[in-house]
Amino acid sequence: MSVNQARLVQTFADLVAIDALSFEEREMADYLKKVWQETCGVTLQEDGAAARIGGTAGNLFGRLNGDPGKSGLLLSAHMDTVAPGRGKRAVVQADGRITSDGSTILGADDAAALAIILEACRELTEEQISHRPVELLFTVAEEAYARGAAVFDLSQVESRLAYCLDCSDRMGSYSAQEPTLLSFELTVQGKAAHAGFKPEAGVNAVACAAAAIARLPQGWQDPHTTFNIGRIEGGTATNIVPDMVTVKGEIRSAVHEDALACWQQTVDIFEAEAGKNGAGIKAAKIIHLTAYHISPADPALRDYQTVLHRRGLEAYAKPSFGGSDNNILVKQGLSGLCLFNPMHDIHTTHEYTKISELVEMTEIVKDLLTL
Ligand SMILES: [Zn+2]
Repeated sequence: MSVNQARLVQTFADLVAIDALSFEEREMADYLKKVWQETCGVTLQEDGAAARIGGTAGNLFGRLNGDPGKSGLLLSAHMDTVAPGRGKRAVVQADGRITSDGSTILGADDAAALAIILEACRELTEEQISHRPVELLFTVAEEAYARGAAVFDLSQVESRLAYCLDCSDRMGSYSAQEPTLLSFELTVQGKAAHAGFKPEAGVNAVACAAAAIARLPQGWQDPHTTFNIGRIEGGTATNIVPDMVTVKGEIRSAVHEDALACWQQTVDIFEAEAGKNGAGIKAAKIIHLTAYHISPADPALRDYQTVLHRRGLEAYAKPSFGGSDNNILVKQGLSGLCLFNPMHDIHTTHEYTKISELVEMTEIVKDLLTL
């Protein structure tokens, strides 16, 4: 199926030009509502995520009616970008790549997906080609541990298959697995005292935390689990024994139980080191994402493979350690697949996409919708 390349590239450039940092997706949401109404007659409903997670916009959900005799599918992409993402501009290079001007990210992550999904649906509508019923989900705050998708009410989704276009690799790739992602905050509670007059009356919370951290190897815990302490705050002045310190970090693992075991070990070591010195601890964790693995029999994968084979392409199973909205979709029982989205060197100012890949991925989405 042919694709209107010029219009696709223009839509992509229009999307790139919109500032949409996580929690600041208002303008992007308004643009998408307008363009989907005008081009496909789709009304995108906005949920209450803005108030729940402290952003300027909610998740958008809508339906494009299709052949009721065919099974429906959900197409999903995220509206937000990472920093530096203000004042982005799409620059078309002579070799067919599209880059930023070098001072910002490009935001093909995930605007390329937004452009592809729109163009695919728009062309099927214009050409009056029979297609599967489509549900659309455009989320906020994916880059912040998928917090937008996490509060979206998935019970309203009728499709059993979902495609989330957010995997950065090469044509035909998909995320074969995505990890559990757990963030934590440990507070060590000691006792303040004057550091010069009566230090023996104090319990040094910083020293307790340091002793615990020294026992916790950072980085890889095993071939599929990482541990990182990313922030420490504590104490008030150089002449006061510090009574409190907070330690923040994250654990990610391809095996959910191993992430939980790593967390338990962390708490045990903090408790032991604090206990030795008469300090207490408070431990809090948030499990943002739960690990999943795509089985070869997965129905969404089967359809993707069928479409790729027809084009002479092979599916490529990429192990991802990033996590995406697809973790949420799979956890809620959908057969969800995180598909290739044409984006490279993401989260850097060197990020780029290729026009040829934007076009080919639009064809693939059209093929999935007409399968
Ligand atoms: Zn992304």
